Amino acid sequence: MVWSPSILFRPHSGVLVVLGTSALGGAAYRFVTAPDDSETSSLNPHTFVPYTLISKQQTSPTSSIFTLRNREGSSNPQALKDVWKQSVWSVQLKQPQLQIARAYTPLPPLVGGSEDEHGEAQELRFLVRREEGGEVSTYIHRLPEQSTVELRGPNVECELPHDVKKVLFLAGGTGIAPAMQVAHALNNRPGARMHILWANRQRGDCAGGQSDSLQTPLPGRSWGWGSVLGLGKSGLSQDTAKHVEKQGIIVKELEALKHQSQTHKRLSVEYFVDEEKSFIQPANIARHLKVSTQKDGAPPKGSRLILVSGPDGFIEHWAGRKIWVAGREVQGPLGGVLSQMDLRGWQVYKL
Ligand SMILES: Cc1cc2nc3c(=O)[nH]c(=O)nc-3n(C[C@H](O)[C@H](O)[C@H](O)COP(=O)(O)OP(=O)(O)OC[C@H]3O[C@@H](n4cnc5c(N)ncnc54)[C@H](O)[C@@H]3O)c2cc1C
Repeated sequence: MVWSPSILFRPHSGVLVVLGTSALGGAAYRFVTAPDDSETSSLNPHTFVPYTLISKQQTSPTSSIFTLRNREGSSNPQALKDVWKQSVWSVQLKQPQLQIARAYTPLPPLVGGSEDEHGEAQELRFLVRREEGGEVSTYIHRLPEQSTVELRGPNVECELPHDVKKVLFLAGGTGIAPAMQVAHALNNRPGARMHILWANRQRGDCAGGQSDSLQTPLPGRSWGWGSVLGLGKSGLSQDTAKHVEKQGIIVKELEALKHQSQTHKRLSVEYFVDEEKSFIQPANIARHLKVSTQKDGAPPKGSRLILVSGPDGFIEHWAGRKIWVAGREVQGPLGGVLSQMDLRGWQVYKL
């Protein structure tokens, strides 16, 4: 079964389509239809506004984090506070010579990072993979610091149901950015838990990442993916052990997000690396579905979600293709590996 989103956005067209009603859907729609002058210099969905590229940090041989600050010094609009709390969202970044734009997913504010007087982070950060021959990703990777970059948004990709209790997130490559947004949003939801399965082509993309399911649970904690999956420290592979020392930037940020939710051990991550011949298997998914169902009984609708995010091939492999209907990209039927599995009432959403 595919979870019907309340809001869908067609990233490359600039069209926002509201399919349902909800608190956030209503807010997003008003924001889209009622622009005012104050929005012209701060991020808004109607016009591209200039940002300054203030720093560029290489995270792996192919990806970097780009930190952008509004050039006019405008703070992030009120609407962003809501989208951070309740949704997966993106902005469009423009390549000015070709006049084309692509969608990118802001990383959540750094845990313990600088904030303004309203407790808001002032910068937007993006993890961008440089695609071979890709127009916009190559463009931003070539820009020197202090360059101007134009952004438009926010565009809500998916709204988290208010009663969501469990999220299993299948992320491929930069698909980790929306996973981090969800982890950030769930931090404000007591009792919500999340497990991320993150697949990368190379270890360099997730250097130092150690799967929680391979760790011995901390003393005094009776619950954790490590304990429920029955895996102990002996399962630590040599490949993994080799990378214990040096953590990549995204791995460190995932650790910080985990630390934020540590009291109740609400976030856990498993790493998979193609070049190490470690791939997400249906069994990795089935274990989590089984464990959760055993613990809590039958779930109310919308309370358990499997989110799938990454390159088109990754989404297609796990959940089938998204499809175009009347000029809009929609979920389409559930396909791929997940359609062959007993999902025990979990709903699937393709990002
Ligand atoms: C909602 C959303 C959020 C996203 N968030 C992120 C994010 O946070 N980080 C991130 O890195 N990406 C993200 N993406 C992907 C991003 O929007 C771009 O699609 C990606 O960066 C590639 O864009 P590009 O302009 O560089 O490449 P494009 O120019 O669109 O090319 C893409 C690929 O197709 C190939 N290609 C292009 N034209 C042809 C052709 N005629 N024949 C054969 N091959 C061709 C190119 O060589 C390249 O490999 C997101 C996408 C969406 C929809």
